[in-house]
Amino acid sequence: MAKKTSKLVSTPDVEHAYQKYRRLKQEVDAWQQERGSYWIANLRLNKKTPYLPIADLPQDAIIELWQRLNISAKVEITDSVLREMWEQLNLGKGTIDPEMATRLQLAVSGVAKLAGRIAREKGVPEQQFNPRASENAEKGVVFCPVCGEISTLAVLTEPDGKRVMHCNTCNFEWPVQRTGCLFCGSEDSKQLIYLDNEEFPGVEMGVCQVCGQYFKEIDGRKISAGDYLWEDMRTLPLNYATERWIEEKLFKNNQMN
Ligand SMILES: [Zn+2]
Ligand SMILES: [Zn+2]
Repeated sequence: MAKKTSKLVSTPDVEHAYQKYRRLKQEVDAWQQERGSYWIANLRLNKKTPYLPIADLPQDAIIELWQRLNISAKVEITDSVLREMWEQLNLGKGTIDPEMATRLQLAVSGVAKLAGRIAREKGVPEQQFNPRASENAEKGVVFCPVCGEISTLAVLTEPDGKRVMHCNTCNFEWPVQRTGCLFCGSEDSKQLIYLDNEEFPGVEMGVCQVCGQYFKEIDGRKISAGDYLWEDMRTLPLNYATERWIEEKLFKNNQMN
């Protein structure tokens, strides 16, 4: 496979964003410790994928965690206002400020992770997770079999680099083909170009010249982060650079097959 290295300018406010994220994340972890077993007892997985879509998560759990994050951020708001906001958003209406949206996102994901945990513990059948199976792959999109959200993050796991797909929403991971494109299934390694950047060791972007899609691949043997959501956020400049690269190299040069 081809290998290309790009130069990127680092984002100065990453450290600040990380501190903020970490405070909220600690609050989510504490909530899961205290309230996780209570809510897990209230969750039921579907028989088929998606086993527990976001829309079916208990609203009370989301509001409870969302409120906890608001309190930690010193934002005063009542539960009933939050409920109203959540309902409006579900109807595709209403607006929400970015900070409030971030806390909501973390709350939804905090509850979804409980579902991910049940699915992991139950060991839901592996063959249903194959992204190449028609129900899971649609126009170059891979859906998480548990929460149904889109995943674009692959992780090479210890000890032998087995490739899994990682869901940033519910933390569920499932095995995928070891080489080639995760979206169209092409196994022609010459058609898959890996882009990397010295600023982000252990993270590569795979660009498929067959379908034009890209994905991020984290080498879990080099990065012992564990928190792949943060790794994905912190390396967003790679996504932008990859999009620019695709735009310039693949489409302008008409190299698409
Ligand atoms: Zn998921
Ligand atoms: Zn492809």
